[in-house]
Amino acid sequence: MKQIWNLPKVDLMPFSEIEDKRESLLVTSGPAWNAVKENLKGLNIQAQLEITEANTEHWDNRKSSIENQKFEVVYAIGGGLVADAAKYFASKLNLPLVVLPTALSVDAFITAASGIRKDGCVYYIETKVPERLILDFETIAKAPAFIRAAGITDVMSIATGAWDWKFAHEQGKNPAGMEFIPWVYDNAQSILCGVLDCAEAAGRGDHDGLKTLYDCLAMEVQLCNQVGHSRPEEGSEHYFAYAIENEMGHGLPHGDLVGPAILLIAKLQGQDIAPLEKALKACNVPLSNIPQGMIERTLKILPAYSRRHNLSFGITHTL
Ligand SMILES: [Zn+2]
Repeated sequence: MKQIWNLPKVDLMPFSEIEDKRESLLVTSGPAWNAVKENLKGLNIQAQLEITEANTEHWDNRKSSIENQKFEVVYAIGGGLVADAAKYFASKLNLPLVVLPTALSVDAFITAASGIRKDGCVYYIETKVPERLILDFETIAKAPAFIRAAGITDVMSIATGAWDWKFAHEQGKNPAGMEFIPWVYDNAQSILCGVLDCAEAAGRGDHDGLKTLYDCLAMEVQLCNQVGHSRPEEGSEHYFAYAIENEMGHGLPHGDLVGPAILLIAKLQGQDIAPLEKALKACNVPLSNIPQGMIERTLKILPAYSRRHNLSFGITHTL
């Protein structure tokens, strides 16, 4: 580990109060932009890139359309896909990045890497952390319910991911640099408790509940930043989500995949899933958008899939 990444500075304010005269490149998605553009008259947008895919070919292609233009800052307005692409552009263009999430749907707003789809799996390439994150809880509360607080899945994956990390330790399967660290494991469990407690409030769009959900996302990400890997929060539940996304083709939001995967994997790990299911339901995370046949097929291929893609050892390797 050569550096330790940080979290963005956060401003809690309505989008309508943003005033920024700098020449801006806007990275967004159609539905997100339509939902908030009336409140963002204070921006000086010089060009707009709409993102529909998570791969560098698509991003490079979009970027080539603005090759001869000069910007002072990048604004990312939307969900995780938009944030990942904007981090890529801002790092390539060497520009500061401001992120305006329209829902608390993932942790990608505050991580230093961008997830890309390649060869049937998800890989993370180091890009950059946004310098600034603007949270407008009024806007987030108005997001469609299924996506509003779906980022809870990226904290709740501690339940299964940290379990895998400990399991790998017991089996002597953690490589150098990913050694099991008990206090980090305990910290992760404490963050998990926090997010289960705020699930109901966050799910209904309560501002304090959304703030606590953000706090839990931030602590989960920074904990991973400190240790230099994601084992405290990423394990078999994410592998299942990556594999099933590949089976189904793209189209389901991250939470729709990771949410049901947490329950499925926790059950296989012998955990009590009742509190997990309650929290996911409270946050309106869809739990039945994956067809049953697809779940069964994915479980069958998962051990070979996890090995083929060199995913860190977890319960999936032993199914
Ligand atoms: Zn995730």
